[in-house]
Amino acid sequence: MPEPLSPGELLALDRAHVWHPYGPMPGRTDPLVVQSASGVRLRLAEPVHGRSELIDGMSSWWSAIHGYNHPVLNEAARGQLERMSHVMFGGLTHEPAVRLAARLVEITPEPLEHVFLCDSGSVSVEVAVKMCLQHWRSLRRPAKRRLLTWRGGYHGDTWQPMSVCDPDGGMHGLWSGVLPEQIFADAPPAEYDPGYADALRALIARHAEELAAVIVEPVVQGAGGMRFCSPAYLRVLREACDAHDVLLVFDEIATGFGRTGELFAAEHAGVSPDVLCLGKALTGGYLTMAATLCTPRVAEGISRGEVPVLAHGPTFMGNPLASAVACASIDLLLAQDWRQEVKRIEAALRDELAAARDIPGVRDVRVLGAIGVVQLDHEVDMAAATRAAVGEGVWLRPFRDLVYTMPPYVTGDEDVARIAAGVGAAAAAG
Ligand code: PMP
Repeated sequence: MPEPLSPGELLALDRAHVWHPYGPMPGRTDPLVVQSASGVRLRLAEPVHGRSELIDGMSSWWSAIHGYNHPVLNEAARGQLERMSHVMFGGLTHEPAVRLAARLVEITPEPLEHVFLCDSGSVSVEVAVKMCLQHWRSLRRPAKRRLLTWRGGYHGDTWQPMSVCDPDGGMHGLWSGVLPEQIFADAPPAEYDPGYADALRALIARHAEELAAVIVEPVVQGAGGMRFCSPAYLRVLREACDAHDVLLVFDEIATGFGRTGELFAAEHAGVSPDVLCLGKALTGGYLTMAATLCTPRVAEGISRGEVPVLAHGPTFMGNPLASAVACASIDLLLAQDWRQEVKRIEAALRDELAAARDIPGVRDVRVLGAIGVVQLDHEVDMAAATRAAVGEGVWLRPFRDLVYTMPPYVTGDEDVARIAAGVGAAAAAG
């Protein structure tokens, strides 16, 4: 093992060389140095604003649902590491990937039956789009190549996913005019609005001949604005897609595995998509893995084409280590009363965040499942808001006009209260 770097040495190398997410060129951000993480706590290499430990209010971007350094997931990783950490998936198969695929089919709504295991959420959306476009090409309907989505959504950072992110004020506005041009419906209202539903149906009908698929985040639009909407719109989409021969893709990369109070958010509406994208919490946040599931109808369409294969095959497809940990994470989740835990966090967030309504500049406070959002009437000052949360001993990542939390499901009541205090402090400071 190399000698550990001092925090100063580490930050100097970071500043010299390392890009961070949505970051300026290296040297222009000041990340905190995390030394280790256990349970819901991140341990810092040096105290910052008087804190050497932070409660993670972000679950590392929705993923670490069981917290960090979990003995069961550690054991799954260790056991698999000793058998085989990776092997190519072309022409070979293995137990962890097969078990995972079968488990995913078992726990997701019917008739999803076929599973493509890839390495990040964005890639799982790329694969979903590819499946839909290829399905229609194979059926000799190549004009069906556009996507319809909701404004305010977020589906990832690679090309097709960027094209279905919010086009106005979204994170990928830089690329307008370069990305494939998609069709956008207004963001869905929080409550069911029959007029909006009619407009959505009409838009799908109007574009049916050129639409390959509708893609949305069910019930919660995450990184595009942390908006919640009525699940009833999912039924509207399902009916309209069926009526007009359009495929329906649900991106549950953020909402999957219990976050909204149902195992998958589309279950709030009892609706099943043709293609489903999963990621983030799939491995309990341990390893990079995502999955795209589809129905036999989609797969059979593809297999009728001149090129009857899905031409996608990432090097780390079906990675055994990630697959083994994903299986262990799913088992761990389902072996406990996870629904009760998410409900407990939901109730605690509702109680504890209520006071945030009185903070000047707060426009809305909303909670669903293990997600709490405080929306301001102005752009948050990220540095000031983060500093205020850290001062409360909480790790948050405020952005745009939002201060929000989606804590690990193992966060105890006292820690949820601390997180809410951190959210309140960030909202007041930002
Ligand atoms: N879709 C949704 C709904 C997401 O929240 C994200 C990640 N924020 C992605 C896709 C992209 O996933 P990844 O960052 O793993 O590429």
